[in-house]
Amino acid sequence: MQPIHVAIIGGGYGGIRAMEHLSKSTHIHVTLIDQNAYHYMQAEVYDFIANKVDMSHIMIDLPSLTKSFGLVRFVCEEVLTIESDTKEIVTPTQKISYDYLIIATGSRTYFPTFIPGLREYTHGVKSIPTALDFKQQFERALLDRIEAQKQGCDAKPFNIVIGGAGLSGVEIAAEMAAYANRFYQNGNFGCRGVDVYLIDAYETILFGMDPFLIESSHERLLKLGVHVWHNNRISEVREHSILLDNGELLDFEFMIFTGGVCASALTERLKFKVNAKGHLNVLNDLSIENYPTIFAIGDVANLTDEQGKPLPPTAQLAERSAEHVVRNIALREKGQPYQPFSFTNQGLMIALGGEYGAGLLPGGIKVKGYLAYLIKKAIFWMYTAPLRRRSAIGKRR
Ligand SMILES: Cc1cc2nc3c(=O)[nH]c(=O)nc-3n(C[C@H](O)[C@H](O)[C@H](O)COP(=O)(O)OP(=O)(O)OC[C@H]3O[C@@H](n4cnc5c(N)ncnc54)[C@H](O)[C@@H]3O)c2cc1C
Repeated sequence: MQPIHVAIIGGGYGGIRAMEHLSKSTHIHVTLIDQNAYHYMQAEVYDFIANKVDMSHIMIDLPSLTKSFGLVRFVCEEVLTIESDTKEIVTPTQKISYDYLIIATGSRTYFPTFIPGLREYTHGVKSIPTALDFKQQFERALLDRIEAQKQGCDAKPFNIVIGGAGLSGVEIAAEMAAYANRFYQNGNFGCRGVDVYLIDAYETILFGMDPFLIESSHERLLKLGVHVWHNNRISEVREHSILLDNGELLDFEFMIFTGGVCASALTERLKFKVNAKGHLNVLNDLSIENYPTIFAIGDVANLTDEQGKPLPPTAQLAERSAEHVVRNIALREKGQPYQPFSFTNQGLMIALGGEYGAGLLPGGIKVKGYLAYLIKKAIFWMYTAPLRRRSAIGKRR
C-alpha cells in the first residue's frame, strides 16, 4: 500500500486525538504543526489560576509526545495560510505538502467591539501566556493589599469581575471565590476580603444547559459568596470599572472576559466559507465544501447537530470529531464514501470550587458534591496519564 501523508494543524484536544488514531496505521505518515511547543489543557486552567496546581499540570510537551509515535513529525511553527490548489501548508520558513489535511486550530476569546474598553482592560484565559499574566497580576495585587493593611484597613473594595457565565466563566468564578475564601480563612486579609462578581446578559448562568447543572452551579456559587448578576448587560469597560446597561458602575481590580469565542485567526486568511464568528463551515462528513481532502474539527469548525443547531464547543466534541475524520480518511482510502458525523454528548462535569463539582454522566445520571469533583479529576487523569506516559517515552528517544 502506498503511504499517505496526513497533516494536522493544531495540537489541541482535537489535533492530538487525530494524531493518536492516525498513528495506529502503519501506512500513514503524520505531520503535526502547532505554533506552540506544548499542548495546553485549557479546560483545567481554573486550577492553575487559583494556585492549586503549577503550570506543568496544564501542559504537555509536544516534541516529546509526538516523538513517541513512530511516523509522526512535529513542526513548531505558526501556519500562515493553506494553498489548497497545490495542497500545501505555508509557515514562515517552509511549505508542507499533504494528501489529507485536518484543521484543528481551535478558538480565541471574542471581544464584541460594541463594548468599548473590553479588549483593552480585560484578561482572557485562552492561552497560557494570558492565563499566567492574569495569575501573576492577581497575586501581586493580593500581596499589595496585605502590605497596605500595615496602614490600617481601607474600605476600598477588591473586586474580581468575570464577564460571561458559560462553562469557563462559572468554573473560574467558583475556583477564584474558593481560593479567596481559603486565603481569608488562613488568616490573611484582616480587613475586607475579595469579592467575585459573575456577570452575564442571559436570564440564567450556563444558559441553554441542563436545568440540574444550572441550579446546582448557581447554588454553589452563592454558597461561595459569588455575586451572580445574570440578566445584566455590560455596556462599557474602563480601566478599573464596568458600566452596566442599567447605569450601575462597579469598580474592579481585575476582570476576566469569557463571554464568547470566535474561530482561530488562521481562518481569516483562508478562502473557505465561514460563519459570522469565523468558524469554518463543513459538510456533514466534516470535510470542506469542494475540498474533500480537507477537514475541520473541534472549536474551529462550525459544528451542528442533525437539526442544524450549533453544538457547544467542548474538548469532548473536538475529540469525537477528530475520531470521525480519521474514520472517514480510512473509508476513502478503501474507495468507500464518507459517513456523516453525529454527536452524542457523553455527559459533562463542572468544577465548582474547592473539592466540589456537578455534572451529568452518560444516561443522564446527575451527580454533585465531592463525588462529582472526584469524577472530574478521574476524567482528567484518564486523559492525561497516557499522554504523560507517551511524553516520557518520547523524551528517552
Ligand atoms: C476556562 C475553560 C474551561 C473549559 N472547560 C471545559 C470543560 O470542562 N469540558 C470541556 O469539554 N471543554 C471545556 N472547555 C472547552 C475546551 O477547552 C475547548 O472546546 C477545546 O480546547 C477545543 O479543542 P480544539 O482541539 O478544537 O482546540 P484547542 O484545544 O484550542 O487547540 C488548538 C491548537 O491550535 C494551535 N493553533 C492555532 N492557530 C494556529 C496556527 N495558525 N498555526 C499553528 N497552530 C495553531 C493552538 O496553539 C492550539 O494548540 C473549556 C475552555 C476554557 C477556556
